[in-house]
Amino acid sequence: MSDAGKLVVISGPSGAGKTSVCRALKQHPDVEFSVSATTRVRRDGERDGIDYHFLSRDDFQKRLSENQFLEWASYNGNLYGTPRWPMDAALARGRTFLVEIEVKGTRQLRERGIPGLYLFIEPPSIEELRARLQRRGTNGAEEIEQRVRIAADEMAASRELLDGAALYDHTILNDDLDATIRRVEQLIWP
Ligand code: 5GP
Repeated sequence: MSDAGKLVVISGPSGAGKTSVCRALKQHPDVEFSVSATTRVRRDGERDGIDYHFLSRDDFQKRLSENQFLEWASYNGNLYGTPRWPMDAALARGRTFLVEIEVKGTRQLRERGIPGLYLFIEPPSIEELRARLQRRGTNGAEEIEQRVRIAADEMAASRELLDGAALYDHTILNDDLDATIRRVEQLIWP
């Protein structure tokens, strides 16, 4: 793998605002974005091959057995994984490569010693996170509660050390989206 480019890992609980941050970062000409594979059902407005590669569980498992994923995780009963090759190609071309993943996947990248800038975006509180998921309207009431439970675990897991080192380089509290985007931009392009 070439280190000419820069890997940026954006992580944080569902509803913390990381997708909005990533949407802003995509405007930069230097940035390429990882399209994950998932077994989750496609939501209204999501496009196959752009928002995700939507795969059957069999197809996902087959690709997993072929070592096609850089990292992968089970989240709320569905499988998510980062295809390996786009990152290598983007970094070799000197691009900034963005992956938006949850905490277990981040640990795998760290365990493999993959260099990059690892950022965790946090909501002001669990109550605010629940309110944002409700306002967003993409998940039903039961799924919102599941995501809130996972969020609490993820916020605790984000602070765990790995071989004595922090999992994330920076945790950014997202209480103001514009300020959060500016902070993330400063960290990526100091
Ligand atoms: P959602 O269902 O809301 O699109 O995503 C659920 C969670 O899975 C989010 O925290 C999202 O960042 C994470 N996720 C999306 N793609 C990947 C991936 O390729 N790997 C991992 N580990 N997590 C992912």
